[in-house]
Amino acid sequence: MTLDPDDGVLALELDRAYVFHSWSAQATLKPMVIAGGAGSTVWDFEGNEFLDFSSQLVNTNIGHQHPAVVSAIKEQADILTTVAPAHANLTRGKAAQRILARAGNSFSKVFFTNGGADANENAIRMARLYTGRDKVLSHYRSYHGNTGAAVVATGDWRRVPNEFARGHVHFFGPFAYRSEFWATSPEQESERALQHLERVIQSEGSTSIAAILIETIPGTAGVLVPPPGYLAGVRALADKYGIVLIFDEVMAGFGRTGSWFAFQALAEQEGGLVEPDLISFAKGVNSGYVPAGGVIISPSIADIFDDNVFPGGLTYSGHPLAMASIVGTLDAMEDEGIVTNAAHIGRDLLAPGLAALAEKYPIIGEVRGLGVFWALDLVSAPSTRAPLSPGGVGALKAALLARGLLPFTADNRLHVVPPCVVTDAEVERALTIYDEAFAAIGEVD
Ligand code: PLP
Repeated sequence: MTLDPDDGVLALELDRAYVFHSWSAQATLKPMVIAGGAGSTVWDFEGNEFLDFSSQLVNTNIGHQHPAVVSAIKEQADILTTVAPAHANLTRGKAAQRILARAGNSFSKVFFTNGGADANENAIRMARLYTGRDKVLSHYRSYHGNTGAAVVATGDWRRVPNEFARGHVHFFGPFAYRSEFWATSPEQESERALQHLERVIQSEGSTSIAAILIETIPGTAGVLVPPPGYLAGVRALADKYGIVLIFDEVMAGFGRTGSWFAFQALAEQEGGLVEPDLISFAKGVNSGYVPAGGVIISPSIADIFDDNVFPGGLTYSGHPLAMASIVGTLDAMEDEGIVTNAAHIGRDLLAPGLAALAEKYPIIGEVRGLGVFWALDLVSAPSTRAPLSPGGVGALKAALLARGLLPFTADNRLHVVPPCVVTDAEVERALTIYDEAFAAIGEVD
């Protein structure tokens, strides 16, 4: 496609005139216009290219415009573009089968939704129906989506103007770098966070709690890889008190951690696989080529709906175009070793490369992550760990964009989250750009 700069001007004009944006005051917005993309790169209508180290909203795990996924969608469009969820559909069955093959033998069914928020809505609904209980416990440092229960399960600022759903309680998860528990080691952090969770369960009345809903690795909150023993401890508490455990793998799932799921990536540190009762997913399952998400259900929960009506549904549950994009994505990820590539990139390039940057620039307080899922915790003073100001983060973002890298920033953090298909050469180029940008912004507070 030839690029016409006038189309870029028109895109921005139409956007500013007619489009209402998420999570923003509208008046001062000036969104970046993106004309196209391929793999780890996007470009504008002037032909300026950017390395997409945001993966958009951390969802393009397979990169932009993967040909196998694009043709799977086109082929399905020629066969059947839509069908009601009540009908059986071959592509939907294949998508569910492929998802379950990656989740493992402890899961038996998939309920499809339109995205991650409604995946959590339905996981919460299943947990409530299964237990006959009401309350849902989730982390303060979390994001679970924008709909009724999901946004109130969310712990960050987005919950506060939206608190219309009932039965939600929050607790602090582990975060050793900014510990709520005065811990001085990851082991202590894990132990004290679990003690805190058990006290919350007891204080809320354990028999009133339907679910503990946590991101296996909280993503938007800062790629907070839990310390060893935490997930196993949460599983043990859920079992002790008869509570359903839901892992939100919307951002962490489908390759981002270098494993299919984050709970699989963390098995070694936990001393074995720690499995939840329900998994919510979206994003990486088809890289968002067509909106889709869902809940992966263990047999004990799925089976109660053999004879009881599940009171939930969506017109587009298991939409054929979304299902075709899932089948195309998961097959291509398998055939091309894309999850293995994410593990290699994390282990061999990003871990040492980002650690070297942290050595060089005191503004980088901590580097944490795995696979293609990393965060740099930026500080104005290393000794106090005071978060870098919004102005400082803005300057860094501008310096990165000016050098051709599209970053993902949240609060005082730079998240390094390229697609799982990113190449060694692209990572090397990005590390050079990060280095130059940190050097350019110098001492900021
Ligand atoms: N859960 C997590 C962990 C997420 O990161 C997100 C989105 O960023 C969601 C849920 C919500 O997904 P969606 O925006 O598809 O509704």
